[in-house]
Amino acid sequence: MKLRFGIISKLLVGFFIPVIIFYVTIILLYMDVQKIVDISEGIITKNTRISLISKKMIENLIRMEENDKKYHLLKKDDYFNYFVLAQKEFEGNFVEILELERSGMEIPREWRQLYKSYQDFSTTFENLRENKSSGSLWIHEAVTNEWIQIISELRAKNEHDIALATMALNSRSQKSARNVLVGLMLSSVVGLFVILFLAYSMIRPLRELLRGIRSVSQDRISKTVNIRSKDEFGELAGAFNDMTLRLREEECMRSDFISMLSHEIRTPLTSIRESVNMIVEEVMGTINNRQRKFLEIASIEIGRICNLLNHLMQVSRLESQTIEIMALPLDISSFITGCIYQLQPLADTKKISVEAQIAPDIPGMTGDLEHLQRVIINLLNNAIKFSDPGSRVVLRVVPNKNRTMLDFSVSDNGPGIPKEEQSLIFNKYYRARGVRDHMDGVGLGLHISKNIVEFHKGTIWVKSTVGHGSTFGFTLPAS
Ligand code: ADP
Repeated sequence: MKLRFGIISKLLVGFFIPVIIFYVTIILLYMDVQKIVDISEGIITKNTRISLISKKMIENLIRMEENDKKYHLLKKDDYFNYFVLAQKEFEGNFVEILELERSGMEIPREWRQLYKSYQDFSTTFENLRENKSSGSLWIHEAVTNEWIQIISELRAKNEHDIALATMALNSRSQKSARNVLVGLMLSSVVGLFVILFLAYSMIRPLRELLRGIRSVSQDRISKTVNIRSKDEFGELAGAFNDMTLRLREEECMRSDFISMLSHEIRTPLTSIRESVNMIVEEVMGTINNRQRKFLEIASIEIGRICNLLNHLMQVSRLESQTIEIMALPLDISSFITGCIYQLQPLADTKKISVEAQIAPDIPGMTGDLEHLQRVIINLLNNAIKFSDPGSRVVLRVVPNKNRTMLDFSVSDNGPGIPKEEQSLIFNKYYRARGVRDHMDGVGLGLHISKNIVEFHKGTIWVKSTVGHGSTFGFTLPAS
């Protein structure tokens, strides 16, 4: 089965890649936030509480010791009661701390050891309470101090834990902020690249197709488009290439047929023309004026048909590339004069003046005299044909700025050519809409000229404004 990665699949891949990166970023962010919540929960529910409780424990121990001393000295019940109250609170503090461990939090084991030591003394404490008049209420001062010392150390350790947790919180937040930034940037950059890639992968074949379509519209159906993508554009290119192949084959058949037909017609036609000319020249006996007039018309018409056949045969030779270019150094001035000389009779019949303007110090050039003459004659012929009687046609030859090219141009004051038709008039058989009905012609002159110029590695062009005339020209490399 032929693998096809169509436009929709490309768009879907292009859509999902940045979306996946975006979602991965969001998931990472969620995990980081979860971790941050855990750390801050630990600080709030465990460390802050331990800090508060341990502070109270130290206070209670001090209170107990104070009241113990006071009671010992003054033997007042109030001190005894204060002592008991502080001791109860102290015990409650222990319970609160151990409660944290029971609810699943990890607390330093020193708390349990301390609680155990406290419990060991609890019996002593009970006895003292029952026999309060016997002496001290509390354990030895050294033990109390030791406990205060332990609780203070645990408290300091707890503060240290809070500082560590805060640092962890800080680095986590920074890391997650960085991750989000990197993720968002990555997804945007990847998104941008994906869009550019998709745009490129669509624009490139479209441009290629456009080039192919343009070359078909400019009569160059030999070009195929080269699109290797496996999507719909690839299929379109395949269909386009099939179409151009078909057109090429048909064009070949048509041109072979025209060439064969032209050959077949030209031979008898030449005999007919020669015969008519011989009759007109009275080789076979005298003819009257009426007969001469009709025979002359016949001769002109036969001449026109021969001309047309010559054009057709030339086109087919150009297309089959069998034309031979004999590039020799050209004397531009005599070459131009020769062209004008050939068309002078036609210009005279319309009282059109043909003027040659050749730039001084023109660089030399090489080319096939016969073929290039045909180009100039085609352009001059059109200029005279389309100009009003009594107007002026100018043939110019000028070099470009750095004298590497030569510009040949023929300007007239004829009807001009509409913009939209200017690119079409070089196509085979194309004749502008405005002249089709009332002017002679077959639409081959410019096509032949274009081919000849291109064979000489030059370019042919037209500048024209409707109502103001046209300038046809071609540019060839100077030697
Ligand atoms: P043809 O002259 O036999 O029609 P060409 O190939 O020489 O064929 O010219 C093609 C078409 O270009 C003409 O039919 C005409 O419409 C247009 N054209 C050519 N030269 C001129 C010009 N100098 N002024 C106006 N239109 C022109």
